[in-house]
Amino acid sequence: MADVSAECNIRVLCRFRPLNHTETLRGDKYIPTFQGDDTVIIGVSSYKFSSCYSKCLSQNVLDGYNGTIFAYGQTSSGKTYTMEGKLHDPDGRGIIPRIAEDIFNHIYTMDENLEFHIKVKITRVCVCVCVCVVQGCTERFVSSPEEVMDVIDEGKANRHVAVTNMNEHSSRSHSIFLINIKQEHVETEQKLCGKLYLVDLAGSEKVSKTGAEGAVLDEAKNINKSLSALGNVISALAEGTKTHVPYRDSKMTRILQEAEQWKRKYEKEKEKNKNLKENIQRLEAELNHWHNG
Ligand code: ADP
Ligand code: MG
Repeated sequence: MADVSAECNIRVLCRFRPLNHTETLRGDKYIPTFQGDDTVIIGVSSYKFSSCYSKCLSQNVLDGYNGTIFAYGQTSSGKTYTMEGKLHDPDGRGIIPRIAEDIFNHIYTMDENLEFHIKVKITRVCVCVCVCVVQGCTERFVSSPEEVMDVIDEGKANRHVAVTNMNEHSSRSHSIFLINIKQEHVETEQKLCGKLYLVDLAGSEKVSKTGAEGAVLDEAKNINKSLSALGNVISALAEGTKTHVPYRDSKMTRILQEAEQWKRKYEKEKEKNKNLKENIQRLEAELNHWHNG
C-alpha cells in the first residue's frame, strides 16, 4: 500500500457501513474491528489507514491549493452515502454538503475586501461502453451552501431523465464534483484560486468475482482499466518523484489533470508578476535617481 502518513500527499481513509437489511436476514456477521483510529482488523489481517477525514481541505482550497477526495469501493459499499449522503438531512449529510458549508463558513469570517467567485461543476464519466464518454455536465456559480445542494439536486434530476436504472448506471460511472474558488482583493487586486475535486468512483468489483460474460465482461474490464489508470496516477503522485504522472491514460485522469495544469499556470503567472514588480521597482529607482541627480 502507498505511504499513508500525514506528510504524504496521498492519504487513505476508510469507512465501514453497517450490515444492510439483506445481509442481516442472510445471517452475515459484522467482522471489522478497530485498533486506534488508523488500523482496522479483518480476520487475521490488519490494514493501516491515515486516520480520519480532516477539515483542513476546505481551508487549503481557500488558501489556493488544489485537492481531491475519492470514494473507492465495490458497488453498495457506501461511496455515494459517504460523498453525498442525505443532502437535506443535517445528520445524514456526506462529505460534499459538509465541505460546501465549511467553505462558506470560512468565507463569512474572511476579509470583507475579498471578492469570491465560486463555481461548482458535476461531471459524469460513463465507463460502461467501449469508449469512455463524458456526459451530464452541470455547472453554476453559487453563493451559499444551499445553492450547492440545488446544483447537486439538479444534476441528479438530469441523470434520472437520462437513464432508467439509477443504481445500475451509477455503479458504472464516475461522478466528479468540482468546487472552484477564485478570490480577488478589491484594493490590491491580488488573486488566488483553488480547486477541490470530490469523486464518487465507479464500482471496483473484480471481474472474476462477478462471473460476468460477453458485453457485461467487456464493461467490467473497461471500469477496471479506468480505475487502474487512476491507481497509476495516484502511485506516481504518492512517490513524489513525479518524473512522469500518466494522466493521459484515461478520460477521468485527464479531467483531474486540469488541477495540476492550473497549478503550473498559476506558478508561472506568479513568477511573471514577481518579475513585473521587480521591473517596476527598478524603473522607479532609476526615475528617482534621475530626478534627484
Ligand atoms: P455505493 O455508492 O458504493 O454503490 P451506496 O452509497 O449507494 O453504495 O450505499 C449502499 C446502501 O448502503 C445504501 O442504501 C446506503 O444508504 C447504505 N449505507 C452506506 N453506507 C452507510 C453507512 N455508513 N451507514 C448506514 N447506511 C449506509
Ligand atoms: Mg453509488
